[in-house]
Amino acid sequence: MGHEVLLGWRHGRLWGVDEVSSGLACDCVCPHCRTALVAKKGKRNRHHFAHYKRVDCVGSAETILHLLGKQILANASFLFTPAYTFPRFSEPWIPQQKVFIKKAWCERRYFGSRPDLALLLQNNSWLNMELTATNPLSPERINWYERRRWNVLEIDCSDLLRLSAKKEELYVFLRKRILGEPQHKYWRYLHKAALKRRQLEQAAVRKRVKHRFYPNRHYYTVSPCPQQKRVWHSAFRQKAYYASLTQDCWHCPYFLRQVYGKRPIPEAVFCWGHRPNMLHEE
Ligand SMILES: [Zn+2]
Repeated sequence: MGHEVLLGWRHGRLWGVDEVSSGLACDCVCPHCRTALVAKKGKRNRHHFAHYKRVDCVGSAETILHLLGKQILANASFLFTPAYTFPRFSEPWIPQQKVFIKKAWCERRYFGSRPDLALLLQNNSWLNMELTATNPLSPERINWYERRRWNVLEIDCSDLLRLSAKKEELYVFLRKRILGEPQHKYWRYLHKAALKRRQLEQAAVRKRVKHRFYPNRHYYTVSPCPQQKRVWHSAFRQKAYYASLTQDCWHCPYFLRQVYGKRPIPEAVFCWGHRPNMLHEE
């Protein structure tokens, strides 16, 4: 058997399985591949549509979400965007925001070469959205946005299709998901944050990682540590500050990344702890 199809397509609109006759008499096609569907209204399973012949169509869930999403955005005036937080920071860099919609586009025929949903906001900036149901947004797709410097929000709808097979209910759930609920929305590319990250990269200092080997363990240290995580007690090091790579740096918000040399052990870290206010400078 092919995949369950939640809603059918007929005469330019979506139909719930409860709105049509059983079997082929439902007269609906798959919203994705446009081949015939049968309405399955048995006693045991949840009522649903299935492909009449085709078995390899897997895109129907996303297509249904896009079609519903288009309807929802056409009738909406605002939505909430989630906060953006840099890795290992507890405070968000950009807070959750309410943004106002001027115009919304959903061009299904450009599927793959255009954003799923593109919004022009009241402040004349653009916001793109991708609704995902069966697979998360692929790295290639995120890269596609990054190359164009287009902000994109992923809206995770993977649980919605299990919740309901009724069109009206699905519409209500999806509306809440797209317009409210920032906890299911993720910034997959945010140009402002990418620029800031580049600034941090430029300001970061490369520090060598020293590898010390004791009988039972390896110890990696980085010095000096501008956050003053640990202090050497020997007179020779004159109370200089240092950090443990694994216990301090890896959990420190000012740690950017580490690099490897010829051996598979960390050789250096990039740290911007000497300029902790940089995140909030213009
Ligand atoms: Zn199909």
